[in-house]
Amino acid sequence: MEPPSPITLDAEKRAKRKRSKRIRQIKKIVERDGDACFFCGRSLGDDITIEHLVPITHGGPDHRSNLVLAHHACNQRADHLSVAEKVRLREEMHRQPEEFAV
Ligand SMILES: [Zn+2]
Repeated sequence: MEPPSPITLDAEKRAKRKRSKRIRQIKKIVERDGDACFFCGRSLGDDITIEHLVPITHGGPDHRSNLVLAHHACNQRADHLSVAEKVRLREEMHRQPEEFAV
C-alpha cells in the first residue's frame, strides 16, 4: 500500500479540526440554551444539528451569536425561512407540539 499523499493527510486533518470545532460549538450552545431543540423545545438526544438563524448564504456569521441547536427534522422544516418566520415556527411548535411530532 502506498503512503497517503500529503494532500489526503491535509484534508483529513482539516476534517478532524472541523469536527472538533463543531463539538465545541455544540457544547457552548448547550451551556447557553440547554439541551433542547430551538424549534420544538424537546430534548435533542443524539439528533443534533446546528442551525444558522441567518443563513450563511444570506451573510449570517458562523458564530455562536447566530447559532441554535435543532433536530434534523426541525432544521429541515425551517430551511429557507427568514428569522421572523423561524421565530413564528418556534412559537407554533411550542404552542401545539402535537401538530409537529418529530
Ligand atoms: Zn425539534
